[in-house]
Amino acid sequence: MDAITHKGAAQAQAAQAADAGPDIARRLSERLRALRAERGWSLQRAAEACGVSKAMLGQIERGESSPTVALLWRIAGGFGCALSDLLPPHAGAAAEVRDPRRVRSRPASDAMLMAPLFAFDPALGFEVFELTLLPGYERVSEPHVAGVVEHVVVQRGSLEVLSGGAWVRLGEGDGLRLAGDREHGYRNPGGAPVVFLDLIHYPRGRAAVRG
Ligand code: MN
Repeated sequence: MDAITHKGAAQAQAAQAADAGPDIARRLSERLRALRAERGWSLQRAAEACGVSKAMLGQIERGESSPTVALLWRIAGGFGCALSDLLPPHAGAAAEVRDPRRVRSRPASDAMLMAPLFAFDPALGFEVFELTLLPGYERVSEPHVAGVVEHVVVQRGSLEVLSGGAWVRLGEGDGLRLAGDREHGYRNPGGAPVVFLDLIHYPRGRAAVRG
């Protein structure tokens, strides 16, 4: 299970942060419908694959509920697709300069901002996110699909990463590769936002679903 901890200061800051929840909810609603149709899955079957209740998945598919990052990951796992396959697409030329300030958004009540810098490409097998954790943010994630490897590089602040059963502290510029298919997590114990890049690599043959 994903555990999400919000502390007072983080919540206050998160409330002021840019909130693109409605965009994410709308896109996810479309993608869920498309993914279910491609597979010919009933809502019940999809709910079982994702490990969420049928009622919750129905709400998300109708755009009535804004998913947390934890929930997004469960849905990606259930359908065997990449995280960015579920997020609003950002069209543009291959050589387009990606400005994270233009693509940051905050899912649901999470005290984090996600910027999909490079969406998943089946030919390359990876996606790159810029992630911002507000002070006090802590999340322990359930394992992603087998073979997923994450590469974390801190840009600003001090980040603590749960990897191999221990919390590891990373300073600015530090990088860490971790097994995304085991328990792992992220936390910001400091008083300022932490910004880091996360390159998520998927094993061949997985996440090759694109709508
Ligand atoms: Mn992860």
